[in-house]
Amino acid sequence: MLKGKTALVTGSTSGIGLGVALSLARQGANIVLNGFGDVEGPKAQVAALGVQVGYHGADMSKPAEIEAMMAYAGETFGGVDILVNNAGIQHVAPVESFPVERWDAIIAINLSSAFHATRLALPGMQSRNWGRIINIASVHGLVASTQKSAYVAAKHGVIGLTKVTALENATTGVTCNAICPGWVLTPLVQKQVDARAAAEGVDNAEAIRRLLGDKQPSMQFTTPEELGELAVFLCSAAANNVRGVAWSVDGGWTAQ
Ligand code: NAD
Repeated sequence: MLKGKTALVTGSTSGIGLGVALSLARQGANIVLNGFGDVEGPKAQVAALGVQVGYHGADMSKPAEIEAMMAYAGETFGGVDILVNNAGIQHVAPVESFPVERWDAIIAINLSSAFHATRLALPGMQSRNWGRIINIASVHGLVASTQKSAYVAAKHGVIGLTKVTALENATTGVTCNAICPGWVLTPLVQKQVDARAAAEGVDNAEAIRRLLGDKQPSMQFTTPEELGELAVFLCSAAANNVRGVAWSVDGGWTAQ
C-alpha cells in the first residue's frame, strides 16, 4: 500500500516509534529512522522487511539538526511523504520544583520538534499533493495528571498544532492527525513502573497493576504494534478525509 513512499519517524530507535516504523515498512514504505541508543538493531529489523532504510541522529531539541535531518531525507529518498512526530521524553515533579532545564527540554523535544519537522516537510508534501503527518501525542494531550506539567503542556500543544496543520491543508491531499495513547509499556513507562515499585515497596507486577488500575480501565497496555496499525490506517485512502483528529488508544482512560 505504501510502496514508493518514504516515512520519517522521529525517535524510532525504541518503543512506539520503532513499532510505527515497522508497521509502515510492512506496507512497503522506505523508512528514515532517528533517535539515540542502539541504531543497528532497529535498522536491521526494518531492512529485513525488504524496504530501504536510512538513519539520521538529529537531536530533536535542536532546530538546526532537524533541518539537517530533513535535508538528508530529501537527498537520500527524494523527500518525506509520511512524517511521524514521535520523539518524546518525560520528567515527573510538582510545578514549583520542576527543573527549568527539564521543562525547556520537554517543550523542545515533545512539542517544538514537531513544529520544525512539520514546517520543513510540508512544502514537498504540498507540491506532490499527498502527505501524512501523524503526531504521537498522548492522553495527556486531552487530560492531565499531576507531576507532569511540561509533558501535559507539550502534548496539549501538539494537538493544537495538529488541528492548525490539518486546517491549513484541508483542501489538499495532505492530512495531519494525532494519536493519543494511554499507557504503553516502553522504556519511557518502565522508568515510571520502577519508580512506583521503589516508592511503594512492591514488585514489578504489582507496580504495573497499580499503574494501570489508576487510569486505564482495560487493565492492559496498548502495544507499539497496535499504534503502528492505526498509523497505517491513517496513511490509507480510507483516511483521506480524516483531518485534525486526536484519536485515543487508551483502554478507556479518557472515557471516564
Ligand atoms: P521511548 O523512550 O521508548 O522512545 C523514545 C524515542 O525518542 C527513542 O528512540 C529515543 O532515542 C528518542 N529520543 C529521545 N530524545 C530524543 C532527542 N532529543 N532527539 C531524538 N530522539 C530522541 O518512549 P516511547 O514510550 O516509545 O515514547 C514515544 C512517544 O510516545 C513519545 O512522544 C511519548 O510521549 C509518546 N507516548 C508514550 C506513551 C507510553 O505509555 N509509552 C503514552 C503516550 C504517548
